Amino acid sequence: LSERLQKAFSGLRRKGKVTEADVRDSMREIRLALLEADVNFGVVKEFVKNVREKAVGTEVLDSLSPAQQIIKIVNDELTATMGDAAVPLNKAPHIPTVIMMAGLQGAGKTTTVGKLAKRLIEQEKARPLLIAADVYRPAAIDQLQVVGEQVGAQVFALGTDVDPREIVRQGLAQAQLQHNDYVLIDTAGRLQIDEKLMTELADIKALAEPNEILLVVDAMTGQAATDVAKGFDERLDITGVVLTKLDGDTRGGAALSIRKVTGKPIKFVGQGEKMEALDVFYPDRMANRILGMGDMLTLIDKAQANFDEQQAAEMADKIKENTFDFNDFLDQMEQMQNMGPMEDIMKMIPGMANNPALKNFKVDPKDIAHMKAIVYSMTPAEREDPDILNPSRRRRLAAGAGRPVVEVNRMIKQFNASKKMMNQMSKGNFQGMEGLMGG
Ligand code: GDP
Ligand code: MG
Repeated sequence: LSERLQKAFSGLRRKGKVTEADVRDSMREIRLALLEADVNFGVVKEFVKNVREKAVGTEVLDSLSPAQQIIKIVNDELTATMGDAAVPLNKAPHIPTVIMMAGLQGAGKTTTVGKLAKRLIEQEKARPLLIAADVYRPAAIDQLQVVGEQVGAQVFALGTDVDPREIVRQGLAQAQLQHNDYVLIDTAGRLQIDEKLMTELADIKALAEPNEILLVVDAMTGQAATDVAKGFDERLDITGVVLTKLDGDTRGGAALSIRKVTGKPIKFVGQGEKMEALDVFYPDRMANRILGMGDMLTLIDKAQANFDEQQAAEMADKIKENTFDFNDFLDQMEQMQNMGPMEDIMKMIPGMANNPALKNFKVDPKDIAHMKAIVYSMTPAEREDPDILNPSRRRRLAAGAGRPVVEVNRMIKQFNASKKMMNQMSKGNFQGMEGLMGG
């Protein structure tokens, strides 16, 4: 995948300037690259569409080439698709926290139980109990016992002729008695999803009431990973995913589509057979890895940070000089949607940085989208001089944005009020902050 994308981008880089046709070309390359990496077809389609919409017409930052700008957009979109931040394990309010594994045979469930136990023992001084509930493969219980010994965790097993539900029931009872803080349930898998397996897992779920159901998926299974994840999630309503075997010649593709198809966070990644080879999943790192452009992205991030600061400073000046118009308002909403919370802009105004009034300052994204639609319907003259917005112009805006006239009126009123208030605040008067932006 990385190679292909690199190729797509190096083509762009040579040209220097990105036209709409370039964007189209690069998107075709990106689509191919993702498909080659076994990302689910539907996910690829949506991903490419998003990126294209964002890429066409974006301003290129001063210090970046258009090609770099597209890399940034692709990277951001990859990160967003995989979820924005690392998601920690769920915890029970009272011990034990019960973690149940699910997944196909060979995915890495037993190995992951060991790795997780090791992690919990080392990081939290935990005393996990590992329950051996895979009774179908004779070696499965031995394997868990070996793993348990390696990491110093107790294993609960009753042999292969006991029903897995009964094993789990008794294992949980023992954990209660021993005050184990974690219970990790190793379950059976099959070569493919079948009814008997699903029923068994659903039964174990019902009786163990796990706080966490981790679906373990082999990253090297590519396209199939998506269907597997979907099947398990539909039946078990999983709470998270562990993507194993990322140390191999792997395709980042599975991470992208599993998250997209199930909406469930990938919590850990397995990067080897050893017990320490389990890492927290970081969407941004995975995106970097898929793109294979770590250094480039760091550079772009820096440029971006400078840009935001510069923009915020300009905005603060305008507020002070009272020349803030609907174009600025739109910029500001765009910034808020992208990354720049309004309070950061406010903090650029001298004396505002530590103002307690900023604490409860929030704007609903849906309202922002509506407000943007209304501003988009304005002519340039109207944006620069809101005073010319008479009733007939307002009706036209309402029709253009598909919003009721009262909403247009309200927004203009809010705009005027905010403008006035921001101007006052910039002069050191912080009263009436609650009314700002209709909050
Ligand atoms: P289970 O059937 O789901 O319990 O899968 P296992 O835990 O038995 O793992 C199947 C095989 O994959 C074993 O040989 C493991 O050592 C190997 N394995 C599991 N996780 C990883 C990983 O992250 N990287 C590599 N390279 N091998 C792994
Ligand atoms: Mg196993």
